[in-house]
Amino acid sequence: MDLYEHEARALFEERGIPVPRAEVTDSPQEARVMARRLGGSVVVKAQVKTGGRGKAGGVRLATDPAEAERTARRILGKDIKGHPVRKVMLAQPVDIESEFYVAYVLDRAAGRFLAIASAEGGTDIEEVAAVRPEAVARIPVDPAEGVTSAKAGEIAEAAGLPPQTVDVLVRLWEVLVGQDAVLVEVNPLVRTRQGHILALDGKVTLDDNARFRQSRWGAETIAHDDPLEAAAAAKGLNYVKLDGEVGVIGNGAGLVMSTLDVVAGCGARPANFLDIGGGASAQVMADGLTVILSDPAVKSVFVNVFGGITACDAVADGIVRALDEVRLTKPLVVRLDGNNASRGRAVLDERAHPLVQQATTMDGAVRRAAELANAG
Ligand code: GDP
Ligand code: MN
Repeated sequence: MDLYEHEARALFEERGIPVPRAEVTDSPQEARVMARRLGGSVVVKAQVKTGGRGKAGGVRLATDPAEAERTARRILGKDIKGHPVRKVMLAQPVDIESEFYVAYVLDRAAGRFLAIASAEGGTDIEEVAAVRPEAVARIPVDPAEGVTSAKAGEIAEAAGLPPQTVDVLVRLWEVLVGQDAVLVEVNPLVRTRQGHILALDGKVTLDDNARFRQSRWGAETIAHDDPLEAAAAAKGLNYVKLDGEVGVIGNGAGLVMSTLDVVAGCGARPANFLDIGGGASAQVMADGLTVILSDPAVKSVFVNVFGGITACDAVADGIVRALDEVRLTKPLVVRLDGNNASRGRAVLDERAHPLVQQATTMDGAVRRAAELANAG
């Protein structure tokens, strides 16, 4: 899960990384009051979990409280790359001399972290990395050794950052470890004309597998992001919202992943990932269908089950019970194969729901579900 900039900023501040004074609000009137408190002139920043806010008009300077109110109202009405702006952060403006880029990111393939740093940070860092990769230093970090002062010195030197950034680099590593993060990024880390180092923007991505020992960012943080993911999380489902129209339910992460690929290969787009796991109960099937059917983007649903330990007739019973609990509003294509498949198909045949159809192969089922999605 990604955190908002203001949440990342709070973590930085707690670890002693210098950040500008800032406050967060969803109200333009309150923005005016806050701007006054912050000294009059403020930078108004959209709080959305996507980069490139500056270029999208989501970061603007307001020179007095009245302008802060107007600017906040304008930014709060915006949609930045599909993310509605619900909150703005007002920050004390900073006199920037230079902008740096620093990040730690998990390198899964190598089984360690990577420090990425550049003396040419700011909104064009992607272009810098593409055009002049030598301007971006990449230093492996052994997770067991971490970032000591010596290591931080090595990173700063490789990237051409001033020595004052060494302390920030060490503390940024402490943020990562303390939060079980897989990414912490500061872009830009700036040196002000007065010679101070300040983190002006922050991105933190938490390791979802460590959520059990990180209670700080709870269900509300998730609910704020996507109501469907929040509903699925509340029911304990392995659900990820995607951008397409074909709802997908399957048993086993591998099968669901390959189902997503086959859907994409048929010229349709999957609306979600949902793994009901082995031994899925009728309740899990009903919960899964409820979440998927409540997604307005879904035009058809594909249930793809390969019975192993799970018997297909048990899954079919689950679907039938789910049909009693959930009002089916969209066509459902079911493919049952493997253990007790024929019995499972018989159960669904007997139920004879007008919106449920069966297919015997995964490809055939996906084609049908894609046709139905494109027709609906
Ligand atoms: P992003 O576009 O989503 O990465 O948003 P940032 O918070 O990084 O802001 C984009 C750019 O706005 C930064 O690279 C800075 O150049 C500029 N910016 C942000 N805050 C300030 C500030 O307090 N003072 C000045 N002068 N520029 C700022
Ligand atoms: Mn930035």
